[in-house]
Amino acid sequence: MSFTLSGDDVCQLTYPSPIPDPYWVAFSPSAAKLIQLDLDASGLPSDPAWLELLAGNTLSTSKHNFANPIATVYSGHQFGVWAGQLGDGRAILLGNIQGQELQLKGAGKTIYSRMGDGRAVLRSSIREYLCSEAMYALGVPTTRALSVVGSSLPVLRESLETAAVCARLAPSFIRIGHFEHFAFTQNIVRLKELADLLIQDHYPECESDSEPYLELFKQICIRNAKLVAQWQAVGFCHGVLNSDNISALGLTMDYGPFGFLDQFEIDHICNHSDHGGRYAYHRQPQIMHWNMACLASGFLPLLELTHDEEEAQSRLRGVLEEFPVMYAQTWQSLFRQKLGLLTADEADISLIERLLQAIHDSKVDFTSFFRTLSQIKLDQPIHQITLRDHFIDRELIDQWFTDYALRLQSESSVDSARMKSMNLVNPKYILRNHLAQTAIEKAQQHDFSEVSRLMNILSRPYDEQPEFEAYAVPPPEDLERVEVSCSS
Ligand code: AMP
Ligand code: MG
Repeated sequence: MSFTLSGDDVCQLTYPSPIPDPYWVAFSPSAAKLIQLDLDASGLPSDPAWLELLAGNTLSTSKHNFANPIATVYSGHQFGVWAGQLGDGRAILLGNIQGQELQLKGAGKTIYSRMGDGRAVLRSSIREYLCSEAMYALGVPTTRALSVVGSSLPVLRESLETAAVCARLAPSFIRIGHFEHFAFTQNIVRLKELADLLIQDHYPECESDSEPYLELFKQICIRNAKLVAQWQAVGFCHGVLNSDNISALGLTMDYGPFGFLDQFEIDHICNHSDHGGRYAYHRQPQIMHWNMACLASGFLPLLELTHDEEEAQSRLRGVLEEFPVMYAQTWQSLFRQKLGLLTADEADISLIERLLQAIHDSKVDFTSFFRTLSQIKLDQPIHQITLRDHFIDRELIDQWFTDYALRLQSESSVDSARMKSMNLVNPKYILRNHLAQTAIEKAQQHDFSEVSRLMNILSRPYDEQPEFEAYAVPPPEDLERVEVSCSS
């Protein structure tokens, strides 16, 4: 990795397995900027070797040579149960460019593939690509997607599909699972190297702390607490918050059966395999907290280098106990912004919660509601607020609008300024499942125009784009519950 960590107990030299007839499905010029890639007029890499590189068919371009591609080992908890060793079963890290690790997902088997084929299908690769870049544009920390390269290679899932490789970029792909792995295997040397590497490359502010490892643990908790608050604020459900899918940098990563909320259902489950709803929308904060507890067990041996067991546990527990506060602070601040509030008042929390309960009860579209809320004028009689028509209990929502207007008046809110600031935090365009599905179905017929159109729209989620109004509206009833297969 920037994993300068090496050794058979950390990673394995792994060459990508070539795919036949590679072709561009999608390419993100915005992500390409991160690695200062030269692009031609059509927005694709000028050097044709990049198509072969990102397909996993070569390891060099005119400027780069990735001689030591690797797959790394990690472990993790899946659905709350210790799963033991996992590792990069279908991701191969080519190397580092301009501080970004370049990883190919779906580039063939690795030593950690277990029963898997090391591949990813076109459908799931397009979803990962679109969502990574959409999240970035929304301002939510995420791994990036540089490209999707397709192939005629058949891949068997529920039915026969074709393979694709998604190239991902991130400053580091280190996960909570990496810590869990070295702690579980009692490989304290590697565990320490891992923590030192993270501090050196990504958390330099921890170095001068009197307790660098405890501080590192705290900073990782803070980033992930903020991350999950941001997910809640844009109505994003990750779907598989296993500890091996949680980034040590606080990035959204490993996009699978994720989903943005259309109608607001607080207990929405986007992953069809998640029968118990462990990863439902409203459980995400507590599950992230749980994952930080897994991370704490990974940090325990590090703290035990300088403290006895009881003291080490107590210090880690102290940080863990702060997690709900870290989360709540960001959540409250984000939802105040969503309501266009400039100041903080204790009573805001109940104002926000009453609203969420009401939009849940009436199954109102989460994104459209907040976007439209910015249009309310303070001197507008309540019966003229068209948004109230979406609610079943008019009396209840009228009371809410009355209280909201009073709250805005209390801070002398100005309609035009509030609308402007609200539109910077309440997106108009999100990656709704049915939009992704349409783009995927066209791509499966070798028409990539919809992937590209959708990407362009989602790259400016807070802008009005009148020509694309149709992409902002909730799904038509028959597409409300597009079934997304979890196999990928
Ligand atoms: P995920 O649920 O996608 O986060 O994957 C969990 C584990 O399974 C990770 O170790 C993945 O690398 C591995 N995995 C998932 N799909 C495949 C596949 N098709 N081939 C090999 N390994 C896979
Ligand atoms: Mg994963």
